[in-house]
Amino acid sequence: MKNNTTIATLGSHSALQILKGAKDEGFRTVLIALYDKADFYRRFPFIDKVIGIAHYSDFPSVEKQLKNHTTVLVPHGSFVAYLGKEGNKKIKVPYFGNKKVLDWEEDRGLQRKWIESADILMPPEFTEKNIQFPVIVKTFGAAGGSGYFFAANKKEFMEKIRSIKSPRYVIQQYVVGVTCYLHYFYSPLINTVELMSIDRRYETNVDGMGRIPSQYQHSMQIDPSYVVVGNSSLVLRESLLPEAYAMGERIVASSKKLIDHRGLIGPFCLETIITPDQKFYAMEISCRIVAGTNLFIEGSPYSWLTYNEPMSTGRRIAREIKFAITKNKLNTVVD
Ligand code: AMP
Ligand code: AMP
Repeated sequence: MKNNTTIATLGSHSALQILKGAKDEGFRTVLIALYDKADFYRRFPFIDKVIGIAHYSDFPSVEKQLKNHTTVLVPHGSFVAYLGKEGNKKIKVPYFGNKKVLDWEEDRGLQRKWIESADILMPPEFTEKNIQFPVIVKTFGAAGGSGYFFAANKKEFMEKIRSIKSPRYVIQQYVVGVTCYLHYFYSPLINTVELMSIDRRYETNVDGMGRIPSQYQHSMQIDPSYVVVGNSSLVLRESLLPEAYAMGERIVASSKKLIDHRGLIGPFCLETIITPDQKFYAMEISCRIVAGTNLFIEGSPYSWLTYNEPMSTGRRIAREIKFAITKNKLNTVVD
């Protein structure tokens, strides 16, 4: 197939993985990057063109250039973080995925409804009157774990809640277990959910606290924080895998009932904590490629079970777009 389509994305988050995958699948590739990052991205031969912009808010001015070619835009974590939900909805270039999902992803109440309707446990939520400690308090719109706090008792909670600026927050039971971020891909073209890979986030300073012996931790009074700085890979105990796959399938099935008939399309991630009784508790769902997949540009143990070739999530997206074009069904996978 002669591929005249361009795959484009913004220069950050998982752009390298997305465009490497697009090039491996035979697409032309374009990156829109802030001027100060453009030279960094020009190092990579699989990026055909880098378009510089001064601010993310200038993105709409680039759209015309993109539309002159047949372009599919692949969103990642920076799209909502820097263009906002409404900014994403206004994009006119074909956008990989279903934008209706953005409303459900942004609202913690709707997320809970969706996840629980897929028969997946979530940490219980409390009001100030019925709190059971320990808890984690999360403001709405916080990104990457910043703006969260941990409270072990009422006194700590009252002290810390004063410093919270956002009027909207949730109080959640603090689940003690192993964090596990499951990366899925749903193909509406072959109606299959694949488990692409799994990561653990490395969050500072909560993941660094174990390096301080407990007798010193108390006197140092370290406050845990959850700002993500990197990711490491994880494979699951095999007996947990059937449920991991089934959770992904139930999330997709629920999305078709709750959101619209198309539901969730393409990559998504369930952020979970696994407790000693081997139960998954979902903290959140991300409805796009997550940065933890950057560990697996050459594929993961799980993608290797499905593909006898390196298959990153970025490449899987490009393959879906390619398949859709061949079948004349691009509208099935873009919005
Ligand atoms: P950045 O482009 O690094 O500013 O990140 C854009 C968004 O993606 C922010 O909401 C980050 O919190 C999130 N993000 C970036 N890198 C990672 C990562 N390695 N793991 C999880 N989330 C990330
Ligand atoms: P989130 O923004 O929901 O992905 O949360 C950011 C980080 O906070 C997670 O990666 C966890 O390390 C931690 N976290 C969130 N919710 C909980 C919870 N209910 N119990 C324990 N840790 C949590």
